[in-house]
Amino acid sequence: MQLSTNFSLAEMTKSETALRKGWRNEPPAAAVAAMRTLCAIVLEPVRAHFRLPVIVRSGYRSPQVNRSIGGTADSQHCLGEAADIEIAGISNFDLASFIDRSVPYDQLILEAYTPGQPNSGWVHVSYRAGRLRRQALTATPRKGGGMDYRAGLSR
Ligand SMILES: [Zn+2]
Repeated sequence: MQLSTNFSLAEMTKSETALRKGWRNEPPAAAVAAMRTLCAIVLEPVRAHFRLPVIVRSGYRSPQVNRSIGGTADSQHCLGEAADIEIAGISNFDLASFIDRSVPYDQLILEAYTPGQPNSGWVHVSYRAGRLRRQALTATPRKGGGMDYRAGLSR
């Protein structure tokens, strides 16, 4: 099933964790609807701008999958409102910067990006119905686990 022209339900629900554990990562109807909106409003414009496939590393996560990978309890991934993405050959800083400048979003996080290593890390982006926070953050892995967050996108 396609969620939008270039994004399928299969790629937005694919989960290595679910596969490995034999869990179904099946979204409820409300999450499917939220993913359609995320694809149409955020991901399609990104694909159109770069004219390259957008790789979805993680889209929808069932609460079980989310807990298992240590996601935050109120993760927008569980609502179908968020995706972790990257584009081969495009630095994640440039990808996040384009989204920040040109696309409506709720929260945008440049995660685990190492300056000088264009392919390092990924970009978390979310969209939701209602007021958009337009919160842009940079997350850096903390020694011993977890992430440190700071405001804005920084290299
Ligand atoms: Zn994420």
